[in-house]
Amino acid sequence: MRKQIAAANWKMNLEKEKANELVESLISEPVEMKDNHAVILGVPAVYLNDINEKIKNIDDYFVAAQDCSSNNNGAFTGEISCSILASIGVKYAIIGHSERRMYHNESNSLLAEKVDRAFENNIIPIFCCGEPLNIREAGTQNNYVEVQISESLFHLPAEKIKTLVIAYEPIWAIGTGKTATEQQAQEIHKHIRNFIAAKYGNDVAESISILYGGSVKGSNASSIFSQPDVDGGLVGGASLKADEFKEIIKGLK
Ligand code: PEP
Repeated sequence: MRKQIAAANWKMNLEKEKANELVESLISEPVEMKDNHAVILGVPAVYLNDINEKIKNIDDYFVAAQDCSSNNNGAFTGEISCSILASIGVKYAIIGHSERRMYHNESNSLLAEKVDRAFENNIIPIFCCGEPLNIREAGTQNNYVEVQISESLFHLPAEKIKTLVIAYEPIWAIGTGKTATEQQAQEIHKHIRNFIAAKYGNDVAESISILYGGSVKGSNASSIFSQPDVDGGLVGGASLKADEFKEIIKGLK
């Protein structure tokens, strides 16, 4: 069975003490998980090393960078390369979050380069896609997401793309309290899987975990995750509270 993942995106939140408290509460009494479950904590870059040290002996808990550079090491002040991330044991990187696309003008072609740097360093991309409200209202969300995926991912060989994680995050649902309905989530997740299957075949498409993101919380996680093509969630606001995030982990199927 595909990996079912509860991924946290802390974004630019939590000073050190609060960050440590949150991790301690998650790991002191960890939620019971099935063999195919994983928890991934997308924490601010300065905490990656410390938190990785804290969780590394807990099965199926990982840290993720919230971004990475499209360049290899060199004169890129302030950037963090995938080889630096890999050297401290980071196994995942969120790539193409809508806030990076919006505030840092990240294009599909730049994201293709980031995806390549990640794979070159054995880091699994959590590739984000998803449409803004006007596109959803126009009913052209499937096409919008197809372009994001094909332009950033379809240069990859099958053996690489089959290992990555996709997070479908409709921008109108991120941080707004509005959630896609279970049916809306299932419909577009299935579409994404079929789109990948049309290029790479069913085996590849079936192996990719597709997470839903957009106002997931403890009370709605299990119903959204119960959909056959929803393999867990990428969670912002609700991942900042231990009890809430634990409920989300419990919602994995
Ligand atoms: C996100 O930013 O990835 C996200 C899904 O945020 P929230 O859960 O707060 O909507």
